[in-house]
Amino acid sequence: MERLAVSPADPEPWALAFAADVLLRGGLVVFPTDTLYGLACDPRNADAVERVYRTKGRLAGQAFPRALPLVAASLQQVEAVAVRLSPLTRRLAERFWPGPLTLVVDVGPGIVEAVHAGLGTVAVRVPNHAVARGLAAHAGFPVVSTSANRSQQPATSTVETAIDALGDVIDLALDGGPTVGGAPSTIVDARTDVPRLLREGAVPFSRVLESL
Ligand code: AMP
Ligand code: MG
Repeated sequence: MERLAVSPADPEPWALAFAADVLLRGGLVVFPTDTLYGLACDPRNADAVERVYRTKGRLAGQAFPRALPLVAASLQQVEAVAVRLSPLTRRLAERFWPGPLTLVVDVGPGIVEAVHAGLGTVAVRVPNHAVARGLAAHAGFPVVSTSANRSQQPATSTVETAIDALGDVIDLALDGGPTVGGAPSTIVDARTDVPRLLREGAVPFSRVLESL
């Protein structure tokens, strides 16, 4: 495993390019987000996705809620992985991105089935963190972003705890210093006219409702 320090506000492009290359070769990368540290892989690579499930102690194909969320560089990049965005999803994305609101979209081409565990949907957001966005930008595609911990263990806001938990299986850890920590992203399904809360998190659901 390699550990690489990056500037959290203005990450070095060569470091992001290096990390993206690790992902595109099927590797696993720990990286900072605007909430916690995440574990990334290429959602188009079935072997890499399988490694993430094995690492986290989840079984691929296990029923809901065992699906893996993604982070993207931009709304445009989300459009590349979604069949289409509902008007409400688009409104919430424009209102809360970049930020810790994850939205459920109907999955488009390219993403392996294990990522969505047969749900036909994928949970995705544009994070308010330059390293997380930069990783997806350099990969040219959204990346899996599951919490960097083993199943049932607490999520981590420092690279050290992430390495303690996952160091033996990851290929690279991007050290962007401690993250905000606290709650993970809020997950909302806004594919219909009535938004549905799937997980309360950093954005209170009341704020989501108030924004409509
Ligand atoms: P974690 O993998 O620990 O970071 O948590 C990710 C959360 O996202 C889990 O609670 C999953 O159930 C949820 N999630 C991932 N994909 C989907 C999806 N397609 N639909 C609903 N929830 C999802
Ligand atoms: Mg988790």
